[in-house]
Amino acid sequence: MNTKEKDLQYIMHTYGRYDVALKSGKGAVAYDEDGKRYIDVSSGIGVNSLGYCDEGWVKAITAQAGTIQHISNYFYSKQASDLAEKLCNLTGLAKVCFGNSGAEANECAIKTARKYSFEKYGAERNEIITLKNSFHGRTVTTLAATGQEVFHNFFFPFTEGFKYAEPNNIDDVKNHVDEKTCAIMLEVVQGEGGVNILDREFVQSVAKICEMQDILLIIDEVQTGVGRTGKLFAHEHYGVKPDLMTVAKGLGGGLPIGVCLCGDKLKNVMSPSTHGTTFGANPVVCAGANYVLDTIADDSFLSAVEEKGAFLEKELRKLYLVKNVRRLGLMVGIEIDGDAHDMAVKCVENGLLIITAKDLLRMLPPLTITAEELSEAVSILEKTLKENTK
Ligand SMILES: *Cc1c(COP(=O)(O)O)cnc(C)c1O
Repeated sequence: MNTKEKDLQYIMHTYGRYDVALKSGKGAVAYDEDGKRYIDVSSGIGVNSLGYCDEGWVKAITAQAGTIQHISNYFYSKQASDLAEKLCNLTGLAKVCFGNSGAEANECAIKTARKYSFEKYGAERNEIITLKNSFHGRTVTTLAATGQEVFHNFFFPFTEGFKYAEPNNIDDVKNHVDEKTCAIMLEVVQGEGGVNILDREFVQSVAKICEMQDILLIIDEVQTGVGRTGKLFAHEHYGVKPDLMTVAKGLGGGLPIGVCLCGDKLKNVMSPSTHGTTFGANPVVCAGANYVLDTIADDSFLSAVEEKGAFLEKELRKLYLVKNVRRLGLMVGIEIDGDAHDMAVKCVENGLLIITAKDLLRMLPPLTITAEELSEAVSILEKTLKENTK
């Protein structure tokens, strides 16, 4: 059996895959098992932030794997404590909890918010308002947190205590806030929801409501974090500060990590045995994340992300088949005439690895992609749009 046949026989069919088995890569270029070359503007859904097999990152993780590959959380780890210190210093937040995925980081944020509220206000104050069209993960609780009906099926009963408000509608948020509200959770750019960039004024008003009523502001930066939007964290565009923030995808540079960060007033909420995970804070993963963060948390690196994003947007807008472009940094949604998924499949056939979000094409290229590679990506997209539109 070849790779595809084995996959279809032995792996649960939870993803519709493109008809490609990727084998190797370097930077923004990937190769399949037949040696065919692709420009990759998906970076494993925003995970390979430094592209495929960045030399420094490979060195960092292989050195760590050859030194000590895993220790349990019952021991101290330099890689984990260095990473925690960096994350706190760079965000002004106080403490972190390590896990292995975005959903897990969000679970930690939800637990921390509820425990804070439980201890201060009692068990009844446990509700979390999230936004319609949001995406927060695939566990039973983070599916419940996700403000889209399509995700609330099959797996009943879902975790109680979530309410959904309209994004960019502050009155609707206010209508949902009551004495039971303990937190408001949002992505400042809804990624899976279609690169929906929230209004600055709306996010600031939400932050004000939170501050005035001791409601915790949870910002899910799983997709938007670690340089993706041209700032280290996307909430910096909005001039707000979260009480809890979650980070995952791009932080590990390709290895699984999820982090929940909390501000000063929450730093002692979680105590021994209230939360944990066997693999969290793995030293190899943290060594890679330290390297990623050292590389990205740099003004010239971050301004290059915005410059590349602006260039990409300008080139995309020249394509007459593109109706609109929604973009923050290198997080890009492209509205086209026609079916985005069909078009993505055709792009892949033509050598461009691209993904979709709702009815948009979506680009999350590695932050290290070059202008030449971006131009190549745009011309493959242009060719594909022309071939497939009457
Ligand atoms: C991808 C994503 C998640 C879930 O992360 P996993 O690592 O897949 O669990 C949560 N929130 C947002 C905003 C995401 O984009």
